[in-house]
Amino acid sequence: MMIIMKANATPQQVEAVITRIKADGLNVHLSQGVEATIIGAIGETHSIPLERYESLDGVEVVQRITQPYKLASRQFHPENTILPIDGFTVGGEEIAVIAGPCSVESRSQIIETALAVKEAGASALRGGVFKPRTSPYSFQGLGEEGLELLAEAREKTGLPIVVEIMSQVQIDLMVKYVDVLQVGARNMQNFNLLRAVGETRTAVLLKRGLSATIEELLMSAEYILAGGNQRVMLCERGIRTFETATRNTTDINAIPVLKNLTHLPVILDPSHATGHADYVAAIARAGIAAGADGLIVEVHPDPAHAVSDGKQSLKPEKFAAMVKQIGQIAQIMGRKLAVAQGEYMKQGWA
Ligand code: PEP
Ligand code: MN
Repeated sequence: MMIIMKANATPQQVEAVITRIKADGLNVHLSQGVEATIIGAIGETHSIPLERYESLDGVEVVQRITQPYKLASRQFHPENTILPIDGFTVGGEEIAVIAGPCSVESRSQIIETALAVKEAGASALRGGVFKPRTSPYSFQGLGEEGLELLAEAREKTGLPIVVEIMSQVQIDLMVKYVDVLQVGARNMQNFNLLRAVGETRTAVLLKRGLSATIEELLMSAEYILAGGNQRVMLCERGIRTFETATRNTTDINAIPVLKNLTHLPVILDPSHATGHADYVAAIARAGIAAGADGLIVEVHPDPAHAVSDGKQSLKPEKFAAMVKQIGQIAQIMGRKLAVAQGEYMKQGWA
């Protein structure tokens, strides 16, 4: 339920509404936008009559949120969420380009890649250290050693780091090192993990599940938001279809659909969406033209010898050419590429 306050409502009137919501056993989410103060009453609201709130002083209108996701819905939060990451923002005018290898493999590999993607215009560095591999016999990641290497790469380049978390037991370790926690496609409905990242105040990149609907993705985002972590970005990374020519099928539709349904930033992963380096730039261009707020792209100095996802990894020079094109498309869209400031900004944002 959303209680929209009158433009001239006093802080006391807002407080009285909040007191009533708490008395009804509901959670309060205050959204003080430029245009209006909206108070969300989240929980079992269906048996509560709207008149109970409509009659309070300072209340303009009371509406039920029709979607099953509440905090994630644009109805509840009409303005875009603009997330500060590291001297730049995601979800506003700037386009974030997150780039790096699928897996951190060695010191030289991650440092070389970090320097190359920074030079090419990336705004953040990615690298997996806990890998969700289909086979238990495949390389599983370097773990904490990989986090230390990423931290060193961040020190050298000023790029914030984006790393996948596989389990809630990794939370304490991960928040010590990373700027953005990536929740992978295979864990999109790991509700214990979603709750755990929802309790942190570290930014989260939530990837769409392999066969998840847009509504399911938004319900998963709701778990994180309900925990009080407002720093959520969504990621379209291709879905499973009958088509086998590419690893997955990019759901380009998902970008404008998500932008319509939610206020959260939307990132596109053209690497996992296509599974093939030859198609990555084309789909990246399409994604930005469709309104995505950023990209996450796999880049490797020697894709032929990558321990994971080499086939879809761009060589640094291909990546640099792609970033140039993305910059031009961003301009047409009235946007610009984000530039990291090396501030490692992690402090609470809500
Ligand atoms: C990855 O980013 O390397 C990854 C495993 O992605 P996804 O969860 O989208 O498959
Ligand atoms: Mn990968």
